[in-house]
Amino acid sequence: MNVLDAFNDDSGRTGRALTWITHRSGYALAAYAVACVVGWFFDSWWLTVPVLVVCVVFSGAVTVAMLHVQFTRLCPTCMTEVPADAPARAQRRRWQLRFEHLARRRAAVPVFLLLFLVPLLAVPYLPSWCSGITSAPGEAWAIGLAVSLWTHHRLRPWCPWCRNWGDGGAIHEPSPDPTNLNTVTS
Ligand SMILES: [Zn+2]
Ligand SMILES: [Zn+2]
Repeated sequence: MNVLDAFNDDSGRTGRALTWITHRSGYALAAYAVACVVGWFFDSWWLTVPVLVVCVVFSGAVTVAMLHVQFTRLCPTCMTEVPADAPARAQRRRWQLRFEHLARRRAAVPVFLLLFLVPLLAVPYLPSWCSGITSAPGEAWAIGLAVSLWTHHRLRPWCPWCRNWGDGGAIHEPSPDPTNLNTVTS
C-alpha cells in the first residue's frame, strides 16, 4: 500500500486511524503547549519521560496531519470543519495563512534551526533562572506552524496566497459557498 492509498482508504483500518489521528491532533498540540510551559519553569527528573512522550505524540500527530492535508483527496470531516464565516476569517487571518506558506519554503529551515540552536548555544552564558526558556523560540515556531497548518487547511479555498490574489486582485475560480456545506460556526 503506498502513501496515497493509505490516506484515502476509508474502509481500511489504517486509513480510518490516520483520519482519526489527524482530526484529534489539536489535543496533541494543546498537550505539547502545556508541556513546553511546564518545561520552562520546572526542571524535575520525573518530568522527563512524560514530556518526552508528549513531544513524540505531538510530532507524530502533526506529521500525520500534514500528510492528511497533502494526500487525502476528500475528507468529509475536513469539510464539516470549514467555518461558516470562512471568507471573513481568511481575511482576518491573512498573516497566519502567509506564515504557513513562508514556513513551508526551504528557506525557512535555517530560520527554524537558528531558533533552536542559538538559544542552546547561549545557555552557558545565561543565568540559570532563564535557561529553561531558551527552547521557547523553537517551540513557539513549532506550535505556530501546527496551528497555521490547520487554519490554512480549513480556509484554503479563500487563501490569497494559494490563489494569487496579488495578481491584480483577480479571482479566477468561484469560492465554495460554506452555507452549502455542513459547516461549523466556531
Ligand atoms: Zn480530514
Ligand atoms: Zn494558501
